[in-house]
Amino acid sequence: MIETKQETWPRCLDCGEQFNPKRLRLGYVHCLSCGDGYAQKEATRKSKCVAPAFNKGAYQYVGSRADAKLIGR
Ligand SMILES: [Zn+2]
Repeated sequence: MIETKQETWPRCLDCGEQFNPKRLRLGYVHCLSCGDGYAQKEATRKSKCVAPAFNKGAYQYVGSRADAKLIGR
């Protein structure tokens, strides 16, 4: 529906650089160079979010950590 040929290009939230409206339609609010940094942060955050999920499953790992604490006393 939205034709972007004459559309004003959106500006990067970080550096104010104009970027392709196609990016905006993909959900990006940053230019390519800033978007790269955010993509990396996002990946880091996702990997951090995954970690607790694994810990939940790996109950033994948590248990052994508690054991290690007791042994340390
Ligand atoms: Zn930018």
